Amino acid sequence: MNIGFVGAGIGSLYAALLLTHKYPSLQVTIYEKEARVGGRLNYVEFDNGARVDEGPTIVLLPSKLKQQLKQAGLPETEVELLEIDPLYRLRYEDGTAFYKYRDIERQAEEVERMFGEGDAFRGYMTQKRDEYQIGFESFLDRGYKAKSDLFEPKLLLLLMRLKAYETAHENMKRFFKDERLRVAYSLQTLYIGGNPYATPSLYGLIPYREQEEGVWYVKGGYFSLATKLEQELRRRGVQFNLNARVERVRVENGRANAVVVDGVTHPHDAVVVNGDFPLMERLIDGVKPKAYEPSSATLLLYFTVNGEIELPVHQFDLPNDFAGSMRTIFEDGKLSEYPAMYTFNPSRVDRTLAPEGTSVLYVLVPVPRKLERSDFEANGTIDHLVGRLETLVPGFSERVTEMKLRTPMDAERFGLFEGGSFGIAPKLSQSAAFKPQARPYAHIERLFAVGASVHPCGGVPIVMIGSELLVKRMEEEMEAFYDDTRSVSSM
Ligand SMILES: Cc1cc2nc3c(=O)[nH]c(=O)nc-3n(C[C@H](O)[C@H](O)[C@H](O)COP(=O)(O)OP(=O)(O)OC[C@H]3O[C@@H](n4cnc5c(N)ncnc54)[C@H](O)[C@@H]3O)c2cc1C
Repeated sequence: MNIGFVGAGIGSLYAALLLTHKYPSLQVTIYEKEARVGGRLNYVEFDNGARVDEGPTIVLLPSKLKQQLKQAGLPETEVELLEIDPLYRLRYEDGTAFYKYRDIERQAEEVERMFGEGDAFRGYMTQKRDEYQIGFESFLDRGYKAKSDLFEPKLLLLLMRLKAYETAHENMKRFFKDERLRVAYSLQTLYIGGNPYATPSLYGLIPYREQEEGVWYVKGGYFSLATKLEQELRRRGVQFNLNARVERVRVENGRANAVVVDGVTHPHDAVVVNGDFPLMERLIDGVKPKAYEPSSATLLLYFTVNGEIELPVHQFDLPNDFAGSMRTIFEDGKLSEYPAMYTFNPSRVDRTLAPEGTSVLYVLVPVPRKLERSDFEANGTIDHLVGRLETLVPGFSERVTEMKLRTPMDAERFGLFEGGSFGIAPKLSQSAAFKPQARPYAHIERLFAVGASVHPCGGVPIVMIGSELLVKRMEEEMEAFYDDTRSVSSM
């Protein structure tokens, strides 16, 4: 049995790790159009040799991640996770600032000290703990074979109980009076490219879980996870074809049976597509691509600087009118005058990233799609952001030795649908059974999918849950065609 993966994102890497652990004689080939593996889980390199994560920085669900690596046979010691506590600082334009702490009682005290709503916070945690259990088992950790699966009375009742009809921000009004607290516990829908004022409250479980399990960091950078997986897969005999763009996924008689690279056909018993799904649809024989709504885009700035940076590891620097800023970006499709700005200062906990005496800094800003560097320059966005960094870190500009930048159009050119950073937008009509599934087409056998635009959702450990669902779905189907063809040796 020979499986071809299109793309070497975390979805493919982890699925291949699971498969080769369970079925050591399986042949796996991963085709990746870039020179390195990892997709969005990658790094930016500076002239002085420093490196910083290019995309993911916040490790959520650490216990799930550890369990996932263990169940795929990767020794626990391979990936070192460090806890970041306080999780992060939230800082407003008017100078108000507060922290999130891992310890729930300490956090309740911080919320009481700042807003007089410590008990409201305790109530929030108790209720969300219940909701998370239901939400995780019923909607995240399972696949769907048909859209109608979601119309089971039990699931509909659960959706009502979870108030899936409310937005993440609206739902926070049930718990908190202060607008800044409502924002603090709903802005995390931005992690998956959704406007907190429009994204269903089901996704509002992210801030709860983040508070419960904390925010973690992979020693060496999040990108090093992809490198570790690649090394282990090579050791297990997986073949990586890098700089190999798949042009077509061939389907004959209702079965995917090959991929085409540089005009050459490579036969496979099954094909898994991992590139951004709306774009993958365009490569598959006989499939009419559907219309999808992309998630939000991001402007990313990466710096290497002399000396240490006096910022917390993670910080959200927010406009006083956060709602207005979200409206400008998501509804008007314009650049906000004072956008929300997330900074990541990993050198504070990891000296391996930059040469002695220097540090790296990552800045992410949610922005409308389709913008180029020249648009940001014309609008003064880059100067505005550097100016804000200057107020946070006195003397910042003079200490910068190199700056790199990634725009929504860079993301689109890389192969993210419409330049959206996080897969298709997290809205109800593109969630759960309404999202592309691990076995996306009933009429095409042996064609599978995994990745941020496939159920359950974007975010590294969640995409890895998608890999688990994929392997389960493949196993169901493989058994059927084992009897059929007798071509499968090991499954
Ligand atoms: C700026 C940013 C910040 C983020 N922050 C976080 C965070 O803090 N925490 C978190 O958990 N998640 C975060 N994410 C999300 C996370 O990075 C993604 O959900 C996850 O990495 C997506 O993995 P994937 O399996 O969908 O593959 P992708 O990363 O999309 O990789 C797909 C691969 O397929 C390749 N490919 C595409 N087309 C072809 C083709 N035709 N032939 C061959 N190869 C092809 C691509 O080159 C790519 O390598 C962030 C993402 C971004 C962009």
